[in-house]
Amino acid sequence: MALKTFLGGVHPAPSKGRTGDRPIVTAPLPQKVVIPLAQGGAPCEPVVKVGDMVQAGQKIGDSQAFVSAPVHASISGKVTAIESVLCPTGRTSLAVVIEGDGSDTWIDSQGRSLDDLSPADIKSIVREAGLVGMGGAMFPTHVKISPPPGKSFDAVIINGAECEPYLTCDQRLMMEEADTIILGLKAWLKVTGAPKGYIGIEDNKKEAIAAIKAAAANEDNIEVVPLLTKYPQGSEKQLIFAILGREVPSGGLPVDAGALVQNIGTTYALAQAIITGKPLVERVVTVTGTPLKNPQNVKVRIGTLFSDLLSYCKLEGKVGKLINGGPMMGIAQTSAEVPVMKGTSGILLLSPEEARVLPERPCIRCGRCVEACPIRLIPTLLDQYCRHEMWEQAEQGHVADCIECGSCAYVCPSKRHLVASLRLGKAEVLARRRRNK
Ligand code: SF4
Ligand code: SF4
Repeated sequence: MALKTFLGGVHPAPSKGRTGDRPIVTAPLPQKVVIPLAQGGAPCEPVVKVGDMVQAGQKIGDSQAFVSAPVHASISGKVTAIESVLCPTGRTSLAVVIEGDGSDTWIDSQGRSLDDLSPADIKSIVREAGLVGMGGAMFPTHVKISPPPGKSFDAVIINGAECEPYLTCDQRLMMEEADTIILGLKAWLKVTGAPKGYIGIEDNKKEAIAAIKAAAANEDNIEVVPLLTKYPQGSEKQLIFAILGREVPSGGLPVDAGALVQNIGTTYALAQAIITGKPLVERVVTVTGTPLKNPQNVKVRIGTLFSDLLSYCKLEGKVGKLINGGPMMGIAQTSAEVPVMKGTSGILLLSPEEARVLPERPCIRCGRCVEACPIRLIPTLLDQYCRHEMWEQAEQGHVADCIECGSCAYVCPSKRHLVASLRLGKAEVLARRRRNK
């Protein structure tokens, strides 16, 4: 039977071999962490001050805003600064700097059984643990599981596609922590009341599919769905279409198609929060690329500096580009002195040759970008609108629906900077909508 998938998309080289076969390792406890207070939704206010001693798992920032998630100390030690820092998202944020005392002392916490928890209990755990989308977007999870009035979820989809080249942190979590991930999915089903759960995994991750199938063998309402290996299979709208055959309407959200999509890391973090009572203070990050002697999937405390991880993975070659995330949707960095955040799934280093940017040439109207676009946009036309600041035309062409996946730029023979152009246009169109409101 043909594997399920979506329309459009591209087939970049997976480049997952250097880390996909290696078990997750735990990084040494960092001497210092820098924990941004803006990690999903509205920035938090600090609830500690310089000079305070903190324990791992202690809340250090919170907000009254609904669309926000608290942040917690990831090591024990002394708060030495609360200052503005550059984040790997490209933005600045106020951050709490903690110098570790080396003892790794934790707050008291108590695990619970999922059977004993009500949906309200689970929602409270999700918020208090500071859960956010760990695939990169960092949208607060307690908001995502709260559908607006009149809407509900009838399906939960766990995104095990991990279609971004080089990244293997989700693959390894599925292989090594399959039972925990199934527990997390059962918690999503309980909190949403959805009757059916799915885990979509690209079929190039055979061991992950086998591990998750074995863990879900006795769960009648959970289905493991092997998916065609194609980028961007892990994008929410494409995953919903592939698995449920439903389209999220233009400008709509997954809940408009009755679906809740959760990342593997977030699902694992929820299960951990239930089992241990501890908040989200660590995650698995794929640290990879040819300039590294020892690329690995590393379990790391939030706030660890990229530079510490690069040393741990033995940086020895020349670096042409440092990327937060993967090559398709990642963000190029100007410095390695930025902290791992809740949404940091990968750190990728490219050699100078790999990072070489070819010069842009005029569009030859080949139409390849149109065929590749999973949203069915017309990138070449939108590119012209955005470059000429024709914002009304760009809006009518649905530039705001662009998911910035980079498929169009990937196939473009003229190396047009389509994503940069459309990202600018999307930001302008969304800003105009807000002003008009
Ligand atoms: S970046 Fe936007 S326009 Fe280009 S393929 Fe992806 S969704 Fe389509
Ligand atoms: S792929 Fe590039 S050259 Fe071809 S139509 Fe699109 S923008 Fe033009």
